[in-house]
Amino acid sequence: MLNIHPANAFRDNYIWIIHNQNYAVVIDPGIATPVIEYLQLKKLQLCAILITHHHNDHTGGIVELIKLSDIPVYGPGNESIATISNPVQQNDIVSLQEISLNLTVLDTPGHTRGHIAYYGSNPWNMIFCGDTLFSCGCGRIFEGSAAQLYQSLQKISQLPEDTLIYCAHEYTLGNIQFARTVDPENRKLNEFAITAQELRHKNTPTIPATLALEKAINPFLRCDHQQIINSAQNYSGKPMQNPENVFAVLREWKNKF
Ligand SMILES: [Zn+2]
Repeated sequence: MLNIHPANAFRDNYIWIIHNQNYAVVIDPGIATPVIEYLQLKKLQLCAILITHHHNDHTGGIVELIKLSDIPVYGPGNESIATISNPVQQNDIVSLQEISLNLTVLDTPGHTRGHIAYYGSNPWNMIFCGDTLFSCGCGRIFEGSAAQLYQSLQKISQLPEDTLIYCAHEYTLGNIQFARTVDPENRKLNEFAITAQELRHKNTPTIPATLALEKAINPFLRCDHQQIINSAQNYSGKPMQNPENVFAVLREWKNKF
């Protein structure tokens, strides 16, 4: 039986810990303390670290964790992260035998140049996508281009509809505010706004959501919908040429929102 636990870190990061009651794998440990505390609480042995991109709030805990045990650190082959022992790229399979989990690497550049995500289909469909796709939003473009991030989100949106999206931040309420401005008539979005508020009120994560829900509510996955196209057009004052163009306008708009 696999468990996936969100360890809270910093203001709004989730460090995902996947475990089977004996062994654990951690994704994006920006800081070691909450990981070590959880491992001790549940008497788990850490057997691997997975990294999506080089930002410090995703990598800052690696050094301390690998001091405690000699374990592999998987991460993007296209970024220079000194502590990575196993660089990986598109279509590589990360075989985590201790927890009987295979994850496939997807290149998802845009937020950073070499950002990757990890997709698994057994025992259920799941993706650990770092700062690429958030619930009801997406990552900022720091190193890549809007076209790259758009393509990365398109790649994720091709996965099975029931894929659970384990992103690295609890940005959902802020994202919903923006989404409702862009897509005010969206009934599912307005319903989810209530659900998300209730969850956060109880300090419960809104993550993971399914890909199906994201396709229904996330404006960055809905750049071909007429309402979103109209909103982007009104905001920019220019006619939209294609969904990628809509995406670029939305991303800039969100930066200033
Ligand atoms: Zn980041």
